[in-house]
Amino acid sequence: MPDWLTHILVAYSVCTVIGFRYKQFNTENTVIAMVGALLPDLYKLAIPIQNFSGYDLSIFISTFHMPIGSLILAAMFSLLFKEKKLVFLFLILGFLTHFGLDLLMTYYTGGIYLFYPLSWSQYQLGLITTVDYNVNILVIILAILVFGISHTKINQN
Ligand SMILES: [Zn+2]
Repeated sequence: MPDWLTHILVAYSVCTVIGFRYKQFNTENTVIAMVGALLPDLYKLAIPIQNFSGYDLSIFISTFHMPIGSLILAAMFSLLFKEKKLVFLFLILGFLTHFGLDLLMTYYTGGIYLFYPLSWSQYQLGLITTVDYNVNILVIILAILVFGISHTKINQN
């Protein structure tokens, strides 16, 4: 089951590996992509907000866990930065890794609304269940390997 750590580590690994070739994928932009990887799951804030205030915002916030909602969030979040376009693109990369990982899951609710509002179809690959932590372990091992390789390359330069 992809949790927040898994999402962050996948974004880190993807950006670091691409960074071997392209200098735009530096540490700062990798961190932005890691934040972007968490944007879709901001919908989970509906629960503590409801517990604290009593207001059920889930119907509004659940849109965050759709590409269109994450895109809007990324656009709003990027407005806080001087280099808006760059931040926006790395946030998009981050949430794309999130949806890529989430698509692997089996959803009892039907899947992810990838093309909302154009389509109400839900998508899932059904490769992992919510109790399967093998993906988490695999991602952690891969991230450690990527970290080791990237620091070996830094020390060589
Ligand atoms: Zn998710």
